[in-house]
Amino acid sequence: MLELTKVEKSYDGVRVLGPLSLRVDARETVALLGPSGCGKSTLLRLILALQTPDCGTVRFERIQLDEKSAQSARRRMGYVIQDGGLFPHLTSKENVALMARHLGWSDSRVDRRTAELCELTRLPADALERYPSEISGGQRQRVGLMRALMLDPDILLLDEPLSALDPLVRRDLQSDLREIFAALGKTVVLVTHDVAEAAFFADRIVLMRDGRVVQSGRIAELLERPSEEFVTRFIEAQRSSLPEPAA
Ligand code: ADP
Ligand code: MG
Repeated sequence: MLELTKVEKSYDGVRVLGPLSLRVDARETVALLGPSGCGKSTLLRLILALQTPDCGTVRFERIQLDEKSAQSARRRMGYVIQDGGLFPHLTSKENVALMARHLGWSDSRVDRRTAELCELTRLPADALERYPSEISGGQRQRVGLMRALMLDPDILLLDEPLSALDPLVRRDLQSDLREIFAALGKTVVLVTHDVAEAAFFADRIVLMRDGRVVQSGRIAELLERPSEEFVTRFIEAQRSSLPEPAA
């Protein structure tokens, strides 16, 4: 589905990513985990072809992403960013429908799809006519998710979708999101700096540090067979937030 091979990215001569190789299979849910600044968002932007790697390749469904292939590939990817990234001057519904309108969908098709997504994401219908500043943070993330799903993408990419939310809202949305991922059966790449969140969502955790993959595997593997000391330190530092193992 997605294959990054030896990608590298520098800003102003400073390498922030790579060399990094990563494969994500269809219908897999992968969490990109790592401390702030380790390159998670940069990696996501390379996948979305919003940025190009200095070297190495990104392939989506075996097609290498370049300027020509990027646009059609991006239509098959849904992207949710941390603060929702909604346009403040558009209502929730207008935000959700933006790309579909651009592609010339009819009113009835837009309405049908919006209603479906409202139900899926449990957004109260009255929030649809409001502007982003008139709904709660949790609702904004639901709208952001609806927008990402509008064109029924093959892969969903989420950059710290829950980070800006307070704990209770976060917990609700966490369990809703997990249900939604399961119901959709899509490929999901979720960025987080939170070990418990990564373990809650993902089949596979890709732990990053300084622009590289340190270890990739299930949480149990990272705990039992850490590839280096950093893995244990990173997990232990957030240990108290992990669920207790069953007795
Ligand atoms: P993360 O999402 O893991 O917190 P980022 O991918 O956002 O990390 O950033 C990785 C590094 O790259 C950071 O040191 C950040 O300051 C730097 N960086 C990210 N984007 C840019 C940019 N557009 N210009 C210069 N430096 C950047
Ligand atoms: Mg980031």
